[in-house]
Amino acid sequence: MTEENVKVAVRVRPFNSRELARNAKCIVEMNGKITQLRDPNNPNAEPKPFSFDYSYWSFDGCKEAAGGYFEPDSSQPNGGKYADQQLVFDDLGEGILKNALEGYNATIFAYGQTGSGKSWSIIGYGKNKGLVPMFCEALFAKIKENQGNGVQYEVKFSMLEIYNEVVHDLLNPAGKKGGLKIRENNMKGFYAEGLKTVLVTSYEDIAAKMEEGTRNRTVAATNMNATSSRAHTIVAVHFVQKTKNAAGQETAKTSVVNLVDLAGSERVESTGATGARLKEGASINQSLSCLGNCIHALAENSQGKKVRVPYRDSALTKLLMNALGGNSKTIMVAAISPADINYEETLSTLRYADRAKQIKTTAVVNESATD
Ligand code: ADP
Ligand code: MG
Repeated sequence: MTEENVKVAVRVRPFNSRELARNAKCIVEMNGKITQLRDPNNPNAEPKPFSFDYSYWSFDGCKEAAGGYFEPDSSQPNGGKYADQQLVFDDLGEGILKNALEGYNATIFAYGQTGSGKSWSIIGYGKNKGLVPMFCEALFAKIKENQGNGVQYEVKFSMLEIYNEVVHDLLNPAGKKGGLKIRENNMKGFYAEGLKTVLVTSYEDIAAKMEEGTRNRTVAATNMNATSSRAHTIVAVHFVQKTKNAAGQETAKTSVVNLVDLAGSERVESTGATGARLKEGASINQSLSCLGNCIHALAENSQGKKVRVPYRDSALTKLLMNALGGNSKTIMVAAISPADINYEETLSTLRYADRAKQIKTTAVVNESATD
């Protein structure tokens, strides 16, 4: 049993075209584990410092290499400082892989306003593969490496979306009208009933499933980012290792790795949403604000208080219950914009992350005899 704090990483992306067109200024600085944010309305004030386990500077110092891969470029003014996908995987993904092999559950979730780089970090785009594909690739490489050591491996994959508090199975979108029910059981905690989990035997299998799932995502445009999803996506990799001891008794170590790409955290007003979209925004905020309430309560409890954690108040927090306060090693990636015009949202993301890092989870190795 290991009790540890939720690890928090913050990542700042390059300016986007909207920010460039508006002549935005960069108000983020990073130095080691310290991230500082300048208040553009108060340029003479000291910047606000935040300290996180990891800080990733992906604002500049890069070039687009073969196939569109963004990599550090030492000839640039901020040369070599750019944190690419490989660096983030080496820091966060490798640890999750090691934990999975030991039989721990793990969760990585990305939080931040729309367009801040959540999907870039979790899923990735083209050659710039994010944590999900890199983790899966490394997992199968490990299995191959370990072949012949007497362990039998099984990998399963599922992908769901929470949209307006309804759970959609992205690998079986026509399967259940009105969405999947969330049930609770003593062993598994909360789970989406009937969610399709597919057996995968290679990285290519998973890549194909991920593509299928991504195609099935609900894409609703807001003014802020036309292609961004207003839904929460949860990818889960279930990993089982079976071994036999000398007496022929079989035991299984299981681990579930959740990779969560949250919907944009921005307040509804700033996206110019009205009517149906506003209702949708309100319910997205219900899930996210409930996540905020849970994080708040858990942070209080880590200070010795005894506050009820309102997991049951939203679909998202039910499904993330283990990740937040239970049996999981958990990492939060706070994705931020570098621009002065996003100051308020960036500040709110950093404060959110600051609270999340106080949370403690207690992960245990999931090992039991099979029969
Ligand atoms: P979100 O999922 O938070 O809405 P995205 O991950 O889609 O945002 O990021 C928006 C855009 O920002 C991406 O299409 C990409 O062009 C750019 N971007 C995000 N993160 C990075 C990064 N680390 N390096 C380079 N570009 C990035
Ligand atoms: Mg996204």
